[in-house]
Amino acid sequence: MPLEKDGVMIILSSPSGAGKTTLVKMLSEIDNYEISISHTTRQPRPNEKFNEDYFFVKEKEFKRLIKNEEFLEYAKVFKNLYGTTRTPVIDNLNKGKNVLFDIDWQGADQIKNKKLDYKLITFFILPPSKEVLFERLSNRDMKDKLIVDERMKQFERDVLHWINYDYVVINDDLKKCFLRIKNLIDAEINNDSKDYDSDFIRDHINKLTN
Ligand code: ADP
Ligand code: 5GP
Repeated sequence: MPLEKDGVMIILSSPSGAGKTTLVKMLSEIDNYEISISHTTRQPRPNEKFNEDYFFVKEKEFKRLIKNEEFLEYAKVFKNLYGTTRTPVIDNLNKGKNVLFDIDWQGADQIKNKKLDYKLITFFILPPSKEVLFERLSNRDMKDKLIVDERMKQFERDVLHWINYDYVVINDDLKKCFLRIKNLIDAEINNDSKDYDSDFIRDHINKLTN
């Protein structure tokens, strides 16, 4: 049983470009919320900060961390390795902080299967449409059309994982999406009724996948 004083684990996953990194950053502005900073072997993007957006490491260092069993979860995503180290997460949860994870479905599955003694809430973020997703990816990864094409192809596969999450949220208007997530977290923590329309979500997924 999770203790009342402990923090809550909140996972946001999505097909690339749907906006989970932006949303995680907005949520981290709330008092008592901390982002779990992942390790990755991918190259930093121009606007990314070392030890803030990621711990950028060489493959050799990543493999050392695997061998030392320091990861709570890790996975290969788009040819690069990504992982969450256990100690900072558990320390924050024990201090009563809510920990935000921006990780993919493989990592979310691993954390779910660990059945840790902390409350876990999982969100899957979707774009309003494929056209909007293409636009967002093109803006973000401006110089690299190949990356955009690869991630649009991957979308078709990634979107299928929505079924394993507690909530699916559509990131149309950023502020509204943020508030929807925040209200669902608060309702989960306080055991209140949830404002969540699963039929609407199913219709949206049908539109995205047909
Ligand atoms: P992800 O982490 O899911 O790959 P990002 O958070 O990096 O996605 O968002 C992809 C791009 O879309 C970024 O350039 C971001 O600023 C932009 N973006 C995110 N959410 C919205 C939104 N609701 N409306 C418009 N642009 C958005
Ligand atoms: P990006 O390269 O765009 O920052 O991230 C690519 C994908 O890797 C995203 O789906 C992101 O959520 C995921 N990711 C980032 N960090 C981790 C992590 O520590 N573990 C796992 N499993 N996935 C991660």
